[in-house]
Amino acid sequence: MNYQKELDKLIGRLGKEERVPSLLLHSCCAPCSSYVLEYLSNYFKITVFYYNPNIYPESEYTKRILEQQTLLSQMKTCHPVTFMAGNYDSDRFYEMAKGLEHVAEGGERCSKCYELRLREAAEVARKCGFDYFATTLSISPLKNAVKLNEIGMRLAKEYGVDYLLSDFKKKNGYKRSIELSKKYGLYRQDYCGCEFSVPEK
Ligand code: SF4
Repeated sequence: MNYQKELDKLIGRLGKEERVPSLLLHSCCAPCSSYVLEYLSNYFKITVFYYNPNIYPESEYTKRILEQQTLLSQMKTCHPVTFMAGNYDSDRFYEMAKGLEHVAEGGERCSKCYELRLREAAEVARKCGFDYFATTLSISPLKNAVKLNEIGMRLAKEYGVDYLLSDFKKKNGYKRSIELSKKYGLYRQDYCGCEFSVPEK
């Protein structure tokens, strides 16, 4: 499936219907969200949902969430963007990662990590009555867009909330996120987030 084409089709339909739906956008970090917000805020009323209990250590979590809030306070967007923080329940992450600590990045632990975060987004989206939920994760060349969209579609059925198919690295999305990170002076971390992805010094 061409996820970008599917998203283009949906955006086309929304334009014809003159509809601006609400979207709960799970964000992994400020740099990845920058392009996604610039792009999608033209078509959706977005709430950025920061739920990343995978991040280690806690000081890094605090740094990344503050960076996210700073970006939102600076960005000019077509439709207003609001912010919602999830819990930093790192115990849930470690429970999920049990036995997978030494699996290479991109493997089973990462798939489960995507699901942990997307499931929370789907649950909150249903509870709060959002029209769609989505994640910024597919912008990264290191993240598996097929896996992410498979999980998103499965959770959409389970929770009864539409999932926004995406591959945000298309249309030069990743490149644009680097440009926007420079423009806003964003901190770009050098590891994915969890303890097992911290580079050895
Ligand atoms: S490497 Fe990244 S995606 Fe994989 S488990 Fe760690 S934080 Fe999650």
